[in-house]
Amino acid sequence: MPSYNDQGIILKSFNLSEADKILNIYTKENGLVRCIAKGAKKPSGKFSGRTDLLYCSFFQFAKGKNLDTLCDIEQITTFPKLRSSSNLLFYGILFLDIVNNFAQEEEEESNHIFELLYSMLDELQTSKSPETVAIRFIIQFLSLHGLKPQLETCVACSKEIVKSKDTYPYSSILGGLLCDECLAIDHISISNGILDILGLPTIQTNSDMETKRGALKLLQKHINTRAKKEIKTFDLVFSL
Ligand SMILES: [Zn+2]
Repeated sequence: MPSYNDQGIILKSFNLSEADKILNIYTKENGLVRCIAKGAKKPSGKFSGRTDLLYCSFFQFAKGKNLDTLCDIEQITTFPKLRSSSNLLFYGILFLDIVNNFAQEEEEESNHIFELLYSMLDELQTSKSPETVAIRFIIQFLSLHGLKPQLETCVACSKEIVKSKDTYPYSSILGGLLCDECLAIDHISISNGILDILGLPTIQTNSDMETKRGALKLLQKHINTRAKKEIKTFDLVFSL
């Protein structure tokens, strides 16, 4: 069987049998790789303790017909600080779920998506404001997929949005702001503060918690409207 090597982060794991697991791994060169990790559940197995979620490693895979087979792992990092608090851990898992939800095999942007996931998980490890890191991660992730919320012009008619109000109408279905003429379209009102957070390339961590949560909730709606399956981990981070 031909084999290949790639750097990746473990996004998801499923039990296949008493001893084996199936892993979803996001790799730098090949995008999503789904593989069988034989013996990964056995304490004495070759992969024991090395196939947990969030682990970043160099992997060797053997090509298979449906699923590839994991042959070897050389660990790079486990992002250990994310495990020091459930708050950081849940945010880390949220990032994995988002990537997993949109991931395709051999997608063109895999290099950028991998780098974004890696750098944001690393930043999350020492962050005092995981909400801010999450907002930045989601906006950049959506940008890479061409799905970023449209905030400069009306998402229905392309008219420029004049920024002079306290609240703005936002359509989650269309994915952006509406002008005054397009208000008949189903929308929610978002505050100026939320708009500031979403529109800035670098977010100030001194925005108040309520505004940051509001921005994150808007992104939750935005991303779930476009996801293959609802991303439930959002509810987990909001429950903290
Ligand atoms: Zn309009």
